[in-house]
Amino acid sequence: MIRIKTKEEIEQMKPAALLVGRTLAEVARRIEPGVSTETLDSVAEDFIRSHKAVPTFKGYGGFPASLCISINEVVVHGIPSKRVIKQGDVISIDCGCTLNDWVGDSAYTFAVKGIKEEDRQLLKVTKESLYKGIEVCQVGRRLGDLGYTIQSYCESFGYGVVRELCGHGVGHVMHEEPSVLNYGRRGSGAKLREGMTLAIEPMITLGNREVVFHSDGWTCTTVDNSTAAHFEHDIAITEEGPMILSSFEAIEEAIKSNSNLELI
Ligand code: MG
Ligand code: MG
Repeated sequence: MIRIKTKEEIEQMKPAALLVGRTLAEVARRIEPGVSTETLDSVAEDFIRSHKAVPTFKGYGGFPASLCISINEVVVHGIPSKRVIKQGDVISIDCGCTLNDWVGDSAYTFAVKGIKEEDRQLLKVTKESLYKGIEVCQVGRRLGDLGYTIQSYCESFGYGVVRELCGHGVGHVMHEEPSVLNYGRRGSGAKLREGMTLAIEPMITLGNREVVFHSDGWTCTTVDNSTAAHFEHDIAITEEGPMILSSFEAIEEAIKSNSNLELI
């Protein structure tokens, strides 16, 4: 069942979604060659808890950390570890915060200085595809229109659109109905209605779209080891058009102030 939210509920969801962006900004300030992903995870957890919120991912389905940190060929669900950041890395960081009983869920892919030109374009196109998908989120359009838009844009660059994972409804819990696929046929799927709140999250690969899940039960990497990117926003569908509940503003300010990162 798709859980429709009232205007008041949508307003209540914003602080959680915005806290995710502020957490990712805090993490972005700490990204530098040599820092471990485990350290970045504790930065996020401390920040979230200091804002009277709970890291949604920790313990979710047994996930051991507050962030998913997925480097280069890791698409999503990378587990923070002693692995250290290197020059030229592509780092996708996904974060969830539960605040006042609402969940925010957002992801951003960071470019460490020295990134390859082909990776730079992948990040740019993946972020653009997210916004192109959001534009489609008008009352009366369909989920298939959204998936088609993301898929056709990314595939026009020769990129792979991961099929095994998708976006979702978001609300009091992280994963609500419906599934929000990043591929699809125009005019197909559920109709978009006022009050639907969705987490839209294209996961795009530079090469082949096939992925493999590792024996840790989480880590998902490209089969051909090509780089992957992942951007995610929470949105609400309103009569006035899509309303983005999360924000990349604080994240992008933090990137600009960190000489180890490149804003794409
Ligand atoms: Mg997420
Ligand atoms: Mg999500």
